[in-house]
Amino acid sequence: MKKQTDIPRLRRDLLAWYDRSGRTLPWRIRPEDREKGALPDPYKVWLSEIMLQQTTVPHATPYWRKFLSEFPTIDDLARADQDKVLAMWAGLGYYARARNLHKCARVIASEFRGKFPQSEKELLKLPGIGPYTAATMAAICFDEPTNIVDGNVERVISRMFRVHTPLPNAKSELRNLAGTIADPGRPGDYGQALMDLGATICTPKSPKCEICPWSFECQAFRHQDQANYPVKVKKVRPVKYGAVFALINDNQILMRKRPEKGLLGGMFELPGSPWTAKSPDNPLEFAPATRNWEKCAGQVKHVFTHFELRLDVYRAQGDAKLNGIWAALDKLSDYAVPTLTKKAIMAALNE
Ligand code: SF4
Repeated sequence: MKKQTDIPRLRRDLLAWYDRSGRTLPWRIRPEDREKGALPDPYKVWLSEIMLQQTTVPHATPYWRKFLSEFPTIDDLARADQDKVLAMWAGLGYYARARNLHKCARVIASEFRGKFPQSEKELLKLPGIGPYTAATMAAICFDEPTNIVDGNVERVISRMFRVHTPLPNAKSELRNLAGTIADPGRPGDYGQALMDLGATICTPKSPKCEICPWSFECQAFRHQDQANYPVKVKKVRPVKYGAVFALINDNQILMRKRPEKGLLGGMFELPGSPWTAKSPDNPLEFAPATRNWEKCAGQVKHVFTHFELRLDVYRAQGDAKLNGIWAALDKLSDYAVPTLTKKAIMAALNE
């Protein structure tokens, strides 16, 4: 870092901007409300942080409201059936988060009498709480001066200091730089301010530098090469292929449950082939029964973090005598059905 970086001014200007222009979010206590004595609720903050991993605020907010209305306290969530939690999570993706959310609620209810531990170190020991969530909760809920670094913060810091190391290798360098600026006086507000700056001003495309409280120190702004940061290693996502089978009997469809562990663990899906680097030579060998299978037009595509999946969808009429889980098509929301499977069902029904 350059010696002349004016850290006190960076802290002061960012917090002043946050006090004026930070986002109002349903789980957040704004500085003016805090002054009146309002305190953040760790359960609500935790729920929001888990949902916001890999998900945008507008997409996660209705889920957050739905969860709170169904499970007003962490004890209510702990008592819930896992299938119900997964069904309510359907559409948010990354279902391991939902399973860990439920596991964590059970640990908090049984071992901590329904109250979250109050330090980053202790929070880190809980299921599904990683370094980012632990640091965020400790700062926001318990005023611990932690170093909160998410994707938004990485972008801001990489531009501020023109960090040339590509992500993900740059992570520790960015974390160290962020840590040197973090404000120990108002840790929660500072962390939220920096995340807001990344989410609303220092956006991936077209950052609004002219109204940014940090433009006076920002090196990328000075060089007018903001778009070059953060530097990233280009990833090529491999493609996998498979086939699924929609066996329909009146208003019902044959489903199966995936193994509890692994990708989409415990979720419901259509029976089908394994997902492999090339399309199965004889997909019908994976069909749940011998039928007159009709191949639907096009392929269902779905992008996971580490690969893209392309599925051929086959449909046929069945009869409910066949063993398996027959789900009513108008009650699919009672089941934990991932988006991928919803797309395949839509493809089968639209034929
Ligand atoms: S000046 Fe521009 S590039 Fe730099 S931190 Fe602010 S918004 Fe981001």
